[in-house]
Amino acid sequence: MLKSLRIFKALSDETRLKILSELTDGEKCVCEIVPKTGRTQSTVSIQLNKLEDMGILSSRREGKSIYYRISDDRVRKLISEEYSKWMILDREDIEWYPEIDMQRCNGCGLCVLGCDRRVFDYTDGMPAVKHPINCRVGCKACEVYCLQNAISFPDDEYVKKIIRENNLFEWSKKQLERYRGD
Ligand code: SF4
Ligand code: SF4
Repeated sequence: MLKSLRIFKALSDETRLKILSELTDGEKCVCEIVPKTGRTQSTVSIQLNKLEDMGILSSRREGKSIYYRISDDRVRKLISEEYSKWMILDREDIEWYPEIDMQRCNGCGLCVLGCDRRVFDYTDGMPAVKHPINCRVGCKACEVYCLQNAISFPDDEYVKKIIRENNLFEWSKKQLERYRGD
C-alpha cells in the first residue's frame, strides 16, 4: 500500500511525469533530460532528487555528468503501457501520428516542447517523430502551431472510420451508463 502511494505521488506531478517518460527507454544524463522537459535545470534537478528519494530513480556519476535511470520496474511498466491502448483498440493498429516535411521545417522546436506526450525527439537542431503511438488519436495540436505548415496528419475521416467500424460509440455509451449506474 505504501509503495503504491509513493508511485501515485511520483506520477502526480507533470515535471516528474515528463522526466519518467524520458527515462523509459534507458539511462540518460541530466543534460539530455532537461531540454525534453521544457523546464529549467534547477526545477528538473529538484524533481530528480525527489524521485531518487522516493526510490523510483537511481543515479551514477561519470566525470561531471550525473546519469539517472528508473529503478522501480512497476513504474517503468506503468509509463510504457500508458499509451498502448486507444479506447479498447490496440494503439499500434492505428496510423495516427504527425509527419514532418523536412523541406519546410526550420527547427523552431515548437512541436517538441508543445507536445505533452513525448512523441518527438530533437537532435542536431531538428525534430523527429520518435514515439508515434504516443500521439493522442485525433489530436492535431502540433499541426496547428507549426508556422511553417511542416506537419501533417491523416484526414479526419480516418479516425471517424475507425470509430464506425469498431462501434466505439456503442462502447462509449455502455461505459457511461456504467458510470451513471444505470
Ligand atoms: S513546429 Fe514545425 S517548423 Fe517548428 S520544429 Fe516543429 S515541424 Fe519544424
Ligand atoms: S498531435 Fe498532439 S499528441 Fe500528437 S504529436 Fe502533436 S501535440 Fe503531440
